[in-house]
Amino acid sequence: MANFRTHITLAAVGGGFLAYAGFKAQWWPPEQSLVVCVLTAFGGILPDIDADHSRSNRLIFTLLAVPCLVLAAVLLQPWLSPAALLGACVGVYVGVRYLCGVLFSRLTVHRGGWHSLLAAVLCTLAAAALSFHWLAQSAWLAWSHGLAVLTGFLIHLLLDEIYSVDLEGGRFKRSFGTALKLTDGRRPASSLLMLIATLTLIPWLPPWGVLGSLLSQGADWWR
Ligand SMILES: [Zn+2]
Repeated sequence: MANFRTHITLAAVGGGFLAYAGFKAQWWPPEQSLVVCVLTAFGGILPDIDADHSRSNRLIFTLLAVPCLVLAAVLLQPWLSPAALLGACVGVYVGVRYLCGVLFSRLTVHRGGWHSLLAAVLCTLAAAALSFHWLAQSAWLAWSHGLAVLTGFLIHLLLDEIYSVDLEGGRFKRSFGTALKLTDGRRPASSLLMLIATLTLIPWLPPWGVLGSLLSQGADWWR
């Protein structure tokens, strides 16, 4: 399988291409090109969140711990003394960065449900919903953010499959077909949970019509 550096580098290259296309076609302001590029690179390491002790898992939970710490500081600040607030913030950081990271990788199987197209859709919709509702971005930008995550995610799954082909030996490795799959058929309960989580996001999504215009403009630009 491809390693962390290959995944993040190629996803960043894909993100750079996407950002350039969006910049040239004036789909978003110039500063958003950087956001799109970073989100694509993030999507490119996202599937390996399921791997025990992986750099992707550590990096993703470090990135998640920072906004959680800021949120805890803002919410708890009126109620706690400075010393107690500092203790609570350290607790939140350690809890998210280490406890959640270890728990997540223990509860998931590498190349299981998180290496699937269903997981790609879940992360795409979660990014669009977060951007639209939590960060109050326009529907156009929110869908752009979601599509950037999707692009990185798909680059990762494709790379994992490419690395499953032993070109010298002219054969497929055992891992072939475990990344670019619709869903994890061997674990129907966790796949069903993932599907429910995906469907739950629907009321929080930006309008679908905006996604349609974004995709048709993308197709026009490509032609
Ligand atoms: Zn992978």
